[in-house]
Formats: sequence, structure tokens, C-alpha cells
Amino acid sequence: MNRTPAMAQSHSKTRSGLNGLESYASCPVCRAPGITKTLQDYDYEYGEEKSRAMINIQLPVSECSACGFTFLDHEAEKVKHNALCRHFGVLRPDEIRDIRRIHKMSRAAFARATKLSEASLHRWENGLSIQTQANDQYLRLLRHTENMSHLNSVHRSSNANTANHRPADPSDH
Ligand SMILES: [Zn+2]
Repeated sequence: MNRTPAMAQSHSKTRSGLNGLESYASCPVCRAPGITKTLQDYDYEYGEEKSRAMINIQLPVSECSACGFTFLDHEAEKVKHNALCRHFGVLRPDEIRDIRRIHKMSRAAFARATKLSEASLHRWENGLSIQTQANDQYLRLLRHTENMSHLNSVHRSSNANTANHRPADPSDH
């Protein structure tokens, strides 16, 4: 466990802040060291006005024993993001990263082959945004080596501009 109070400096946090990327050893407001975590029911609202919905998530909420400020640290944001992914039935950030690692590809190489943007991949893998259902389906297909090598061969042959190159078609489709 890293207990470096310096990490809490110069970050003002609100409990609804989506990018809590640090764990706090001291209060981000009053700098007192006594932070306690308790599991609390947290109602998360999402969607546009017309399709607004609410899900209930149990989160480890941090509370300062000195000033009473409550906030979500990095761990809680991760729990929240994973709960949202489960709710929407899409891959979690670590599962997306695993797909890329199956192919031993850097984010840049993965982006080149899939035509997904590197910035989007970064956001999905770090829990800063959630992929659409369509991209989620696409990512699931990319788990399979044959699909990835198919994309790589399309990419290569389109680069080489060779019209007489027929990509292998998996027969079990
Ligand atoms: Zn405080």
C-alpha cells in the first residue's frame, strides 16, 4: 500500500468526479490523515434526459474523519466503472487490455490494425469512457487470433495494393 500524502496535493475532488486516478492517504480538502472507507449504496444516474436511468452500486466511499468530506478514490472509481460495464453487458477495461495483450500488440499497432482510434482505446482501457455496444461486439471478435490475422492481412494487402490477393476465409462461418 502506497501511503504518500504528497499524492493528494493540488487536486480538488468532488464525489462525482469521474477521473479519480489516485488513492488518497490524506483528505484532499483539509489534508488531515484520517481517511476511512465504508461500503455504501451509491445511486448512479446515466443517460440523456429522455432515457435517464439509475443503477445502484455498492462503493467503497472514502470519508475524512476530520472534516467529513466524502469522495471516491481510484479504487472506488474502478469498482463503479466495472459495475457500469457489467450493467451494460460490455467488456471491462482489463478485459479490453487483455485482448490486445493476447496479440502482443502495442496500443498503436492495435489501433492501426483495427482502425479503432488510439485515444478511444486509451479511454476504454483506463475506464475513462465506455465503448459502444457495436465496438464492444467488434472487440469480442478481435479476441480470436484468426480474426486479428485476417485484419492484418487486409491491412497489408490494401497497403500493397494487390488485387489478386484473396484473404483466407474461415470455413466454419
Ligand atoms: Zn478533511
